[in-house]
Amino acid sequence: MMYGYQCEYCDGTVEERIVTEDFRHKGELVILHNVPVGICNCCRTRYYNAKVLKRLEKIAVEKNELPTLSIPVGEFQWPEGERP
Ligand SMILES: [Zn+2]
Repeated sequence: MMYGYQCEYCDGTVEERIVTEDFRHKGELVILHNVPVGICNCCRTRYYNAKVLKRLEKIAVEKNELPTLSIPVGEFQWPEGERP
């Protein structure tokens, strides 16, 4: 069990959740599915197990072998004269 301990910031419990993580490796965005992170069931603080971090790093280093997505990137802006 990698998680299941008490949160450092509140009385909540850190529970394992399988999530999709967006993170940067050497300035490049890498998205990984099925990452086991610890999330406090009370304040939602995230915890990363050291072995999970090591593994994330290893997968990121080999990112050239991963499939890639093209992602639309835009800027938020209000239409002319409609800024609230
Ligand atoms: Zn907490």
